[in-house]
Amino acid sequence: MKIGFIGTGTMGLPMLKNLLKRGHRIVAYDILSAALDEAEAAGAERAGSTAAAAAAGDLVITMLPSSGNVEAAYLGTGGILEGAKEGRLTIDMSTIDPGTSQRVAARLAERHLRFLDAPVSGALGRAIEGTLTIMVGGEARDLEEARPVLSAMGSTIIHVGAVGAGEVAKLCNNLIAGAAMIAVAEAFRLGEAFGVEPRVLTDVIAHSSGATWVMEYGHPVPGINPDAASSRGYAAGFMTDLMAKDVGLAVAAAREKRIPVFLAPAAAQLYRLASAYGFGRKDFSSLYEFLKPASREAPV
Ligand code: NAD
Repeated sequence: MKIGFIGTGTMGLPMLKNLLKRGHRIVAYDILSAALDEAEAAGAERAGSTAAAAAAGDLVITMLPSSGNVEAAYLGTGGILEGAKEGRLTIDMSTIDPGTSQRVAARLAERHLRFLDAPVSGALGRAIEGTLTIMVGGEARDLEEARPVLSAMGSTIIHVGAVGAGEVAKLCNNLIAGAAMIAVAEAFRLGEAFGVEPRVLTDVIAHSSGATWVMEYGHPVPGINPDAASSRGYAAGFMTDLMAKDVGLAVAAAREKRIPVFLAPAAAQLYRLASAYGFGRKDFSSLYEFLKPASREAPV
């Protein structure tokens, strides 16, 4: 299949490489020419605009940072709405606000273009392996059409519901992961302060009710899990800025539905604060670094 691929950044590039490996042809576009150079070096054809990439593809995939970028790429001047041929299927794999997915889908439908929201979980490592979890919102028959392409990038593909539902599932997941990482970071700071060896505490928690995915795979204390971002200077992984964005999106979605949320806004603020203090581009487990104890002179 010939695929128009827009957004060849951290995640987009390895996803595109896996599509090429499966024999698909790619026409790529990114507003950053350095990002596009890498896609070209990997074997993609270079397009001069989003509309041109969309026009060339039998299918269009986008992997962009935030809601505003997705809106601009689909509905803006020189965008997908202008370029894609009637009846084409478009798939947005970015993590954005579900309301934006629904608005974009409605505008595309006016021109008989189809849309799936298909955000991913798994970060860079699993994007490289092609083993992402992909959660999909949209028509079941559109997902069946997209499945062979999606399966080049992900090993678990779940149909969640109508357009926007994939994004809702992604925000729910990251709300849990974001809040859990804060709890793990606080717990290990507390344990250490009382002289409990982090490896021993890890062993206790791994066999108790506090066991969590973020501790097992993304342990925030350096040296415990050699594969975790903390063991390589907190190089992301999944960066603090993205976690701040995703938990913030969950808060906004909850507000729209008038759901009282308590932990999510606190978590979003903490990640924003860590970002303001220079942890934004580091892995979100660097929150453990941010939560250093105050000096011994500080009153308790
Ligand atoms: P990134 O910033 O590395 O890459 C995004 C690319 O999109 C950049 O190269 C940028 O130049 C390009 N871009 C932005 N606006 C554009 C436009 N209008 N037209 C064309 N290109 C445009 O971001 P990323 O880490 O690849 O993340 C992409 C999405 O995936 C985000 O929504 C993120 O939340 C989500 N995500 C990321 C991870 C991760 O670990 N990085 C994991 C899961 C999900």
